[in-house]
Amino acid sequence: MRILFASSEAYSLVKTGGLADVSASLPAALRRRRQDVRLVLPGYPEACRNLVDATPRPGPDNAPWQLLEGRLPGTRVPVYLIDWPEYFQRAGNPYSASNGMDWPDNAQRFAGFARAIVALARDEAGLDWTPELIHLNDWQTGLVPLLLDPERTGIERPRTVFTIHNLAYQGLFPASTLQELNLPADLWHPEALEFHDQLSFMKAALVFADAITTVSPTYAREIQEPASGMGLDGVLRARAADLHGILNGVDYRDWDPARDRHIAARYSADDLAGKAANKAALQTRLGLEPDPDIPLLGHVGRMVEQKGVDLLHAACTPLLEAGRIQLALVGSGQKDLEHATGALARAYPGRVGVHIGYDEPLAHQIEAGADLFLMPSRFEPCGLNQLYSLRYGTPPVVHATGGLADTVVDATPDHLDAGTATGFSFSPDSVAALGGALERALGLYAARGDGRWEQLMRTGMARDFGWNASADAYLALYREQLPRRSRRAKAASAL
Ligand code: ADP
Repeated sequence: MRILFASSEAYSLVKTGGLADVSASLPAALRRRRQDVRLVLPGYPEACRNLVDATPRPGPDNAPWQLLEGRLPGTRVPVYLIDWPEYFQRAGNPYSASNGMDWPDNAQRFAGFARAIVALARDEAGLDWTPELIHLNDWQTGLVPLLLDPERTGIERPRTVFTIHNLAYQGLFPASTLQELNLPADLWHPEALEFHDQLSFMKAALVFADAITTVSPTYAREIQEPASGMGLDGVLRARAADLHGILNGVDYRDWDPARDRHIAARYSADDLAGKAANKAALQTRLGLEPDPDIPLLGHVGRMVEQKGVDLLHAACTPLLEAGRIQLALVGSGQKDLEHATGALARAYPGRVGVHIGYDEPLAHQIEAGADLFLMPSRFEPCGLNQLYSLRYGTPPVVHATGGLADTVVDATPDHLDAGTATGFSFSPDSVAALGGALERALGLYAARGDGRWEQLMRTGMARDFGWNASADAYLALYREQLPRRSRRAKAASAL
């Protein structure tokens, strides 16, 4: 199948978050399934620099952009960068200037990106290639389904699949943007582009895409409810029949304790001996008291309200006070949460080890060296860290929400007896509920002579969250779109 995969980020061309990981590893997995998948991204400076075998090509006649064609590093996936200097050749982040403020012309920049994607889809750049399907990701590509809408263009067009990676970022702009972008005035109503008197790029995709996906089955259900729908639950309920939850995969080439180059000792389910050496190394690195027996709890993540770091602090404080646990944390984000985390480390020297910042090797060392991994996220579309911790034999303690609910099997007595348990989950997202889950976890750890703890570790390590199953699910969804396309395209051309 000919698939154009459109995203604003792809590792290792340009990355600000999890979107980049998915936009690299999913196309690579589809390529391994012999699909003709090609990526299109804005030509940000770092993307242009990192592109392999970069070759300039002309854009469509009179277009203000040209193409930079090449390959995604470490793969055979072809990439087209939209080389539009006025919009994308800027220092700073893809979305904001170095002072942290959003670029004031983001609506124009990503409307421009969407129009360039449409031009590629119609082969206006003379590539001799047109996609049968376009897979769009997040609001930056949100206008594409609208621009390709057959009821407006009356011409045959590729099918569109739109993936929500985080509903919290919607691409909202002032009402006047509608005219500035020459978008159809008749679409200015709440069933189309208007969101509380603002123009919503995300909504354009949710209304006009042929199919919608998000990154876990539970999050797909949750976002149809007012509590988690961020104002878009009504639109999502209206599209319920076309909304699918497909879990993200893990790239086990990077995240496997049997071959991880960042950790002190390698280990696997067959030989767990190295885990103790990683615990000792982590205690040394973070200035924790050397102690092989005290439960060491780890956390890695952006320090924002979503991730529940405040719940973690409150639930762990009495356990630290009682000398029952150690804590190892790495993360950065909101200043208030960073300061509170630093204060906890100062209050319990030798028991709390913290690094404020982004540190990829330390993230691996915490996954490998901790006994338990804490992920009390208030909401979590998919979550990757709990998937890593399962593979590292570090049972996760999670709030039963979104992708966390879909990937962790709670250590209830029944699940323990059946040998299916992989971690500990709690609900609601309260300090008391997290505290209760921690007590259960510490109880099982203290009784580890009975073998149940090791079974919990091994069951988690054996779970496979690689891309195979998810890439197959995307491919099946793509295929479902195509026959309907012929029918609708025929109907459209008959109009
Ligand atoms: P989200 O995408 O919401 O940030 P995920 O759990 O899906 O959460 O993915 C986060 C990714 O970023 C993981 O690979 C995690 O290890 C990494 N990460 C987050 N914060 C840090 C940090 N401070 N240092 C190193 N890696 C981090």
